[in-house]
Amino acid sequence: MCGIIGYTGAGQAAPLLLDGLEKLEYRGYDSAGIAVNDGSGIHVAKTRGRLAALRAMTHNGKDLSGTVGIGHTRWATHGRPSDENSHPHVGGDGRIAIVHNGIIENYKSLKEMLMNRGRRFVSETDTEVAAQLIDYYYEGDLLEAVARAVRELEGSYALGIVCADDPDTIIGVKSHVPLIVAYGEDGNMFASDVVAI
Ligand code: GLU
Repeated sequence: MCGIIGYTGAGQAAPLLLDGLEKLEYRGYDSAGIAVNDGSGIHVAKTRGRLAALRAMTHNGKDLSGTVGIGHTRWATHGRPSDENSHPHVGGDGRIAIVHNGIIENYKSLKEMLMNRGRRFVSETDTEVAAQLIDYYYEGDLLEAVARAVRELEGSYALGIVCADDPDTIIGVKSHVPLIVAYGEDGNMFASDVVAI
């Protein structure tokens, strides 16, 4: 059981994501990470250990500027707690980044299919397979790519997704696990639990 969060709005994303993740730490705390889109690309900071380690690493989020982002606090199911296995995971050389709560049951067969098509993996997680699958289907329309990818995913998941080409957008998608969506005047969010919002 991990915690995921996403934000798009007028404020700086990283400090908001870190504050939200603090409320989600009860769901998992072996590692944590955020990805922020600053308009020029996606910047990822992630580390094994509790959220305090991520706070220190990013100077409370000040190191990552940008108003769109996703965050994760992990309780590992696939792959030991490590920097490499921490979320967010990226697809397509960092073009797409995702966070994930849950389990992709058919990740092995999807990983094999993607490896046969030249995709390389750096982690042991089921989540990285979903990131690469979304990127595999991406042809300029992120929503369409996510819709195609999730048709192939089996299991329980809530995913938060950002794409370098879409600097104002976060996508949240869920199946069999909770994801709360909040709309506001200054920004929109999703999270695994309402306490983070
Ligand atoms: N399966 C993912 C991982 O191990 C997410 C874990 C979870 O939601 O508990 O990284």
